Amino acid sequence: MGSLYSRLKIFHYPDKVASLPPSSKETLAPLHIRIKPTNVCAHNCYYCAYKADDLQLGRDMNSRDSIPRDKMMEIIDDIEEMGVKAVTFSGGGDPFYYKHLEETAARLAEGPVAFASLTNGARLQGKVAEIFAHHGSWLRISIDGWDAKSYSEYRGVNDKEFGTVINNMEAFKRLGGKCYLGVSFIIDRKNAEHVYSFIRRMRDTGVDSVKVSPCIVSNEGAANNDYHRPIHDRVKDEVARAIEELATDTFEIYDTYHLLEERFDKEYTWCPYLQALHVIGADLNIYSCQDKAYNLDSGLLGSIADRRFRDFWFDDREKFFTINPARDCNHHCVANDKNRLVIDYLESDPDHLGFV
Ligand code: SF4
Repeated sequence: MGSLYSRLKIFHYPDKVASLPPSSKETLAPLHIRIKPTNVCAHNCYYCAYKADDLQLGRDMNSRDSIPRDKMMEIIDDIEEMGVKAVTFSGGGDPFYYKHLEETAARLAEGPVAFASLTNGARLQGKVAEIFAHHGSWLRISIDGWDAKSYSEYRGVNDKEFGTVINNMEAFKRLGGKCYLGVSFIIDRKNAEHVYSFIRRMRDTGVDSVKVSPCIVSNEGAANNDYHRPIHDRVKDEVARAIEELATDTFEIYDTYHLLEERFDKEYTWCPYLQALHVIGADLNIYSCQDKAYNLDSGLLGSIADRRFRDFWFDDREKFFTINPARDCNHHCVANDKNRLVIDYLESDPDHLGFV
């Protein structure tokens, strides 16, 4: 299997890259869309960015919103016609609590758009699990607790839920198919000393990978780092030991646990990635990106409540340049490195390209 997390994937679409800058007259379809089908979730993770009052992400989210069934089918018709490459279902809530997910996934399975989902795994069962197993590209299950008791404390769920999620993952792998099943282990001070044993348990469950990521506790990079510094070295040691002892060709461990930049300042004035990977919210608003989802004042590109997605997208290009990252995005941005690569590429002097 090739690299799943390359920052250079966008350069496989040179026409799209060329269409991105403000000087271009051409608008091409997005490559990848994050769809938040519902904001409903039965788990109550204490760190959930969409529920925490003091985190910017999800600030204007209504936790009861869901995309109506007919609107979802219309969106899928549009993205297939437009040539969108991939869709990821994510929160807001948990996509597997969306009552039309089975129909939505079945519809996507008949067409050319690759699809994937994030989930807590509690509802990864039945027909919808079968559709994902045989037609989905990947699933990623977020976990924080290392056993039934800690899991129920993290999430405010009963102490049978951890066993349900583990059983669901094992059953999902038994379904066969090519869907890559990953786990995202969210690290905070409580589970830091359980990293190695948790990864070993996940290997025994049969998942394809474990990604280790920091729990985000503040909008400020410095405050996040103050929180993580006391556990940082311990976590890195546990992950390194796991990679050395447990990783194989069929079980990967991704270490994305890191301290954040102290400051999130950006020097560029337009955002390439919002034309490549944006968000359709359960409120039928289009947001620039995952880091500005449900931020009506700084992330909103428009609404598709009363119009088709394709009409919104191709209508005028001005909406892609109303957000100035140097002014409006002095917070965490998952696309920052990738934006810098695209801008560096586009700003190469054409008279000097030969001097590689
Ligand atoms: S946060 Fe990042 S991806 Fe989102 S609009 Fe700003 S620069 Fe673009």
